[in-house]
Amino acid sequence: MGRAVSAINYGFDVNSEESFWSPAIRGLVPYVPGEQPRIADLVKLNTNENPYPPSPRVVQAIATAAQHGLQLYPDPQATAAREAVAAYHGIAAEQVFAGNGSDEVLAHAFFAFFRHGRPLLMPDVTYSFYVVYCGLYGIAFEAVPLDAQMQIRVADYARADPLEVGGVVIANPNAPTGCALPLAAIEQLLQSQPRRVVLVDEAYVDFGGDSAIGLIARYPNLLVVQTLSKARSLAGLRVGFAVGQRHLIEALERVKDSFNSYPLDRLALAGAVAAYQDRDHFEQTRAAVMHSREGLTLALEDLGFEVLPSSANFILVHHPGRDAAQLAQALRERGILVRHFKLPRVAQHLRISIGTPQQCDALVRALGELLAP
Ligand SMILES: *Cc1c(COP(=O)(O)O)cnc(C)c1O
Repeated sequence: MGRAVSAINYGFDVNSEESFWSPAIRGLVPYVPGEQPRIADLVKLNTNENPYPPSPRVVQAIATAAQHGLQLYPDPQATAAREAVAAYHGIAAEQVFAGNGSDEVLAHAFFAFFRHGRPLLMPDVTYSFYVVYCGLYGIAFEAVPLDAQMQIRVADYARADPLEVGGVVIANPNAPTGCALPLAAIEQLLQSQPRRVVLVDEAYVDFGGDSAIGLIARYPNLLVVQTLSKARSLAGLRVGFAVGQRHLIEALERVKDSFNSYPLDRLALAGAVAAYQDRDHFEQTRAAVMHSREGLTLALEDLGFEVLPSSANFILVHHPGRDAAQLAQALRERGILVRHFKLPRVAQHLRISIGTPQQCDALVRALGELLAP
């Protein structure tokens, strides 16, 4: 006798002692990624992907790699990719750690450096995955408010006793504001926390920020994390890395080798190396994104939006006369996806990824219609 099952009945409460779940899992609040709908022809401006495809040399390198040796495990040290990153930045490959997307690199860094029982300091408005890692690894944290202009104020991260702090994580440029700090401010942070790791997440740095990688030789507490997902158009490949002095990189290697020895597969390794070899493609696509960002900013200001100055491949906007969630929904009905966060301080903002000129035009046209009196 068949029984229609419309909702799965586990037969017990997942929060009860009888659950199959470990106690730690019951309290987890996972990250919610932006939508990846399986609908063609959407104007997808919701997850900060690059609107341009990766270098053709990347695609070629992956195709070649696919023809040779997939039956073999990849290099557990991801040596070729680390060397490519090191050569690009003028550092040594031993100062580079590579992982399966910078999300994985960040997770390993949180585990390796921030479990002091002292609160990790982070901005109150920033990449929402940081709080998720704190939950996963039982890391205490303190959200330090951005100022009224939504800027990180580094002086607010100093404490009379720096050992009261478990570490600092910031995104520079910050997300979802797009605002960048100058390197002098990063140095001030590093000097105020000499005994703790300061993690600077540079996911968007190539769209107008200043990288702190040049500071690693002078600051043993600096870890810089970057990704190939944004400026190198490889969100689908999953490659990220961290740069720091050897003692920090060694800690990350220990975590990795206690978790998954092969985070970068053979295709990802080949693609990552090729991505760093094609500088022209990188320079052209990031210049195109920055150019579109300036045009879109002006067009949205003409429509009455307030636009935060952005050094990233997205802008954070607010319309004084319209509810942000309703605008996002109305855009969605027109086939345009933008990101709305139901979070304090940004609930009346929209984060809009920079698209191609055609995508930006479609957005401006749709908003013009929606805002017409
Ligand atoms: C996109 C993003 C990441 C994650 O990038 P992946 O390398 O794709 O995992 C990390 N930090 C910030 C701030 C991001 O916006």
